[in-house]
Amino acid sequence: MGLFNIYRVLHRVGQVTVGTSHGKRGHIAYVASCAAEDCGWSAEYDNSAAAMVAAQGHRCRVY
Ligand SMILES: [Zn+2]
Repeated sequence: MGLFNIYRVLHRVGQVTVGTSHGKRGHIAYVASCAAEDCGWSAEYDNSAAAMVAAQGHRCRVY
């Protein structure tokens, strides 16, 4: 589990889940989060396209 609590999953790209979450400022954010325990990578984006690009570009160190 990364930093964010994804409450609606939109896509999965390999180990990375893209979904919507409550962002730091309390609004809905798009989050890409790696499921690999030892990786812990996650990031918040303003739109789903940016989150998808980030998910596809993630080079996981664990897998
Ligand atoms: Zn990863």
